[in-house]
Amino acid sequence: MRGTSLALQAPVRRRRGFFCLCLPMNADLELLITLQRLDTAAQDAERRLADEPQREQELDARLEAARQAVTAAKERLAQNQSARRAIEKDVAMHQGRLSKFHEQAMAVKTNQEYHAVQHEIAFAQNEIKALEDRVLEGMLEADELTAGLHRAEVALAVEQQAVEQGQGAIAAERDQMKVVVDRVRVERSAVVAAMNPQVLATFERVSQRRNGVAMAPARDGVCTICHVRLRPQVFNTVLKNEQILQCDHCNRILYYVPATPSPADASPASSS
Ligand SMILES: [Zn+2]
Repeated sequence: MRGTSLALQAPVRRRRGFFCLCLPMNADLELLITLQRLDTAAQDAERRLADEPQREQELDARLEAARQAVTAAKERLAQNQSARRAIEKDVAMHQGRLSKFHEQAMAVKTNQEYHAVQHEIAFAQNEIKALEDRVLEGMLEADELTAGLHRAEVALAVEQQAVEQGQGAIAAERDQMKVVVDRVRVERSAVVAAMNPQVLATFERVSQRRNGVAMAPARDGVCTICHVRLRPQVFNTVLKNEQILQCDHCNRILYYVPATPSPADASPASSS
């Protein structure tokens, strides 16, 4: 048998809570499974803690986008208003010219002068009408822009609330994850203290090389983490959960869980 056996003579305990096997389990193997469960919980908690700055940045970016939408809507409305003011100035200018032409019309001496003034009056009136049409268009556009600004402000308020909630959730999770990390540290020390140092060293070595996953459940003759088929003799030995055996392929320490585990069963996160 090529699987490494480190604790052939280790004491044996029967059926403990989370595994509920019908066969007795090697005490160190049971402690290793607990150790892996604790390490996986700590890794998950640390991963969540490490993700926090990214999640906070995403919230900030959402808020910034909503703020920018409001700023852009305000700018569009301001541009519309200043364009309208400029047109209204032109209207006033043409109206000034129009009254001057009306005065001139009263003082004309010749037919030719009369026609010339009438021509100027018609031109100024057309200009004023065209400009007033543009003012009207600008006012209609201002209504749409005002509504758009209102929508952007409502969206910003909604985002502000969502972002505040998101930040609150991150802060709450941060506290929760810190509690998990602290609790795992205490529980881990107790487990480690009860373990065979040689078995622990193997676990730590494999864990370091295998991304924090040193334990591999075996099922249907296969290492469920690296998915390599075990030799029948190795799998038959693993089925008994009496020895510390490592997978020939990934070196993880093998153990057996029944095909239909209880809901309380927890196996280490998959990774190869
Ligand atoms: Zn394996």
